[in-house]
Amino acid sequence: MQAAIFRGPRHIEVGERPDPGIQEPTDAVVRVVLACVCGSDLWYYRGESPHAAGSIGHEFIGVVEETGAEVSSSAPGDLVVAPFIYSDMSCPHCLNGSTLSCVRGGSFGNGTIDGGQGQAVRVPLAGSTLVRVPGEGHSEQTLRSLLTLSDVMATGHHAAVSGGVRPGDTVAVVGDGAVGLSAILASRRLGADRIIALSRHPERQMIAKEFGATDIIEARGEAATEAVMEMTGGIGADASLECVGTAASIATAFAIARPGSTVGMVGVPHGDVPVAQAFFRNVGWRGGPAPARIYIPELLDEVLDGTINPGLVLDYETDLEHVADAYTAMDERRAIKSLIRVGSL
Ligand SMILES: [Zn+2]
Repeated sequence: MQAAIFRGPRHIEVGERPDPGIQEPTDAVVRVVLACVCGSDLWYYRGESPHAAGSIGHEFIGVVEETGAEVSSSAPGDLVVAPFIYSDMSCPHCLNGSTLSCVRGGSFGNGTIDGGQGQAVRVPLAGSTLVRVPGEGHSEQTLRSLLTLSDVMATGHHAAVSGGVRPGDTVAVVGDGAVGLSAILASRRLGADRIIALSRHPERQMIAKEFGATDIIEARGEAATEAVMEMTGGIGADASLECVGTAASIATAFAIARPGSTVGMVGVPHGDVPVAQAFFRNVGWRGGPAPARIYIPELLDEVLDGTINPGLVLDYETDLEHVADAYTAMDERRAIKSLIRVGSL
């Protein structure tokens, strides 16, 4: 089959990988319909995080082609959403909500396991990993939104859940990338009254407002902190959501968190939490990689009934043959998030 192959930094190309087949009775083979490029793929692409040569990509939706004898939750012909990791949902860590630490789990597109950016994927632990999408004849818009449940929308939701967003809250979202925008949408879902988006890009501000942002702050650093404090009467945000991971954005997220609150952190950290500052203000933090498989069912229902449309973050589109363009568009900041059209329903 054809699949994206990571050769090394700034070198992604389409090549031949072995056709996936059933190896374990718990496997399924999924023919990929839509895939996309994650912000973390970009870290690999830029050589800022290591990635093994070979398969890449962990966000995809597709159609089940074949299932192993022990897979009963989906059948050939079903449209399914795959979370970005596979997990058994029955080990002590999965049962405790930390699917990333599943004792039998693993990552798609890690060099050897098939990646979402390819024509087909062997899905281990398919019965507990894949989420079947009910109904048929879904619109293009719905399919794009379903794709975001694989990772980015689940991650934005995790930021809001980790930050403890409650009805009536004032939420501040640091980061206007696809995750930050998703965190805005997630905060609105959870009933936030006021959502302050820290964003300086007009096209991202538009999506932020569409997703529920009530205020936009273009300043950065101390000026951004001052602006949030002024907007909140000197108190700070009830929930501050860190969706970037740089040292500067982490500093801002903690500076604007009100005393006694929890910072929701989902940006892969490339900086440190200011422990003493947090300690003396009784500010905590929660977060990490999202347990997407746990969140997908409730988000999926709202995508299907049109309540949320997270697919708006996918603002660039290409096909598998041009997968390298999907990366360069994001690398050059021409795209918020790139969609790769791989197959049809
Ligand atoms: Zn597990």
